[in-house]
Amino acid sequence: MANKNKKQQTELDKIVSLCKRRGFIFQSSEIYGGLNGAYDYGPMGVQLKNNIRDLWWKEMTQMHDDIVGLDASILMASKVWEASGHVGNFSDPMVDCKECKSRFRSDQIDLDAPCPNCGAEDSFTEPKNFNLMFQTSIGSNSDSASVVYLRPETAQGIYVNFRNVVDSSRVQIPFGIAQVGKSFRNEITTKNFIFRSCEFEQMEMQFFCKPGDDEKWFPYWREQRMAFYEKMGIRMDHLRWHQHGPKELAFYAKDAYDIEYQFVEPMKWQELEGVHSRTDYDLTQHSKFCGKQQDYLDPVTHERYIPYVVETSAGLTRNVLMALCDAYDEEILHTEKGDDLRTVLHFHPRLAPVTVAVLPLVKKDGIAELAKEIEMELREEFTTFYDQGGAIGRRYRRMDEIGTPYCITVDYDTKEDNTVTLRFRDSMEQVRVPVSELISTIKAATKNYKRK
Ligand code: ATP
Repeated sequence: MANKNKKQQTELDKIVSLCKRRGFIFQSSEIYGGLNGAYDYGPMGVQLKNNIRDLWWKEMTQMHDDIVGLDASILMASKVWEASGHVGNFSDPMVDCKECKSRFRSDQIDLDAPCPNCGAEDSFTEPKNFNLMFQTSIGSNSDSASVVYLRPETAQGIYVNFRNVVDSSRVQIPFGIAQVGKSFRNEITTKNFIFRSCEFEQMEMQFFCKPGDDEKWFPYWREQRMAFYEKMGIRMDHLRWHQHGPKELAFYAKDAYDIEYQFVEPMKWQELEGVHSRTDYDLTQHSKFCGKQQDYLDPVTHERYIPYVVETSAGLTRNVLMALCDAYDEEILHTEKGDDLRTVLHFHPRLAPVTVAVLPLVKKDGIAELAKEIEMELREEFTTFYDQGGAIGRRYRRMDEIGTPYCITVDYDTKEDNTVTLRFRDSMEQVRVPVSELISTIKAATKNYKRK
């Protein structure tokens, strides 16, 4: 008899299970029972994450000649975080359940309701502020001078290098600095898979401009960032803007918008990226705390000023979840043998962890060797995967499940006329293509890819 109490699987549960089954994402330290808020990216996951990162990097640094790159260290002087306000203010109001000792963000639960974990009534402590930064120490002394924090955002690494970049590169305002890297926050509520984790990656860009010119650059960057997601092949009806209201807006910020994505059930609309107009707040703070003006001398007008900043701040790991949610689909196929369920990830070919799979129809009669040869040729251009195990239909399905846009089948005819079957993931259409035209055909299909 079916278990009536069995919880209905949500869309998110299905994605989590696919991620584990197909080597995208695993819970950290799983063999020891798992560590909350930390995840490991498997063979497919790391490739997907790197593809998103590379697209962002190309978009920012290659397609915008006024942006340079940076890779600042994770550990920084603690003064950086005093100046930025993170030591004093980067905290969430938390309550503990006196019964089961669970901790919750007081703004995310109903304090008059029973504890969501153990059901105890009236069991919450008074809200206390809890700093989200992980603290450790550097060197062999453990006095206060040796305290360091794991950075909770990559942006401060950019601000503290503003003068270094101006003095060492031929940049002139307006210009931006882009960086991708790990950030750490001691998040208490880490539900929804990799959406909110304690260790995550960010892709941030700070655009420095003349005070007043932010009025022009702020809408420009909002438009650019939304256009990026369209290039990534994300469904645009799943993206929207959310403008920060007066209560959400940081006291120094002039204006702030978030790009929100409609994730799968039960998450729905959530923040994906912030585009913020931050004025000269950060550079002014660092000027005060380090005692050196973090300003800019205009080489033409000889004006000296602290630039204003428009920031674009996206979560890379959150983008991975977004790409998975956006791509995930279950289709009912009507076949001669009856209805069949196909699970498929409709990644844009530029995001897919494997671009081309090469599948010999049979192993014998030199077909496997021929397929291997073709795969070796394609490797120079694409990430490839060779699979000779099992029925061809089942091999296609495995490739659909990891989102491989192109499958090539090598058969007896290949030996005769040097053509192969090229199968397209989304339409499942199959065409016969000469081996010599494979690379150009796949490149053209990728360039012209449109999800139906
Ligand atoms: P939230 O309100 O969700 O805690 P935030 O507004 O504090 O996030 P920012 O500090 O603006 O987030 O960070 C910029 C981006 O970094 C976010 O849009 C998100 O994509 C990503 N990000 C922030 N915190 C996390 C986290 N704990 N796990 C994964 N990604 C995160």
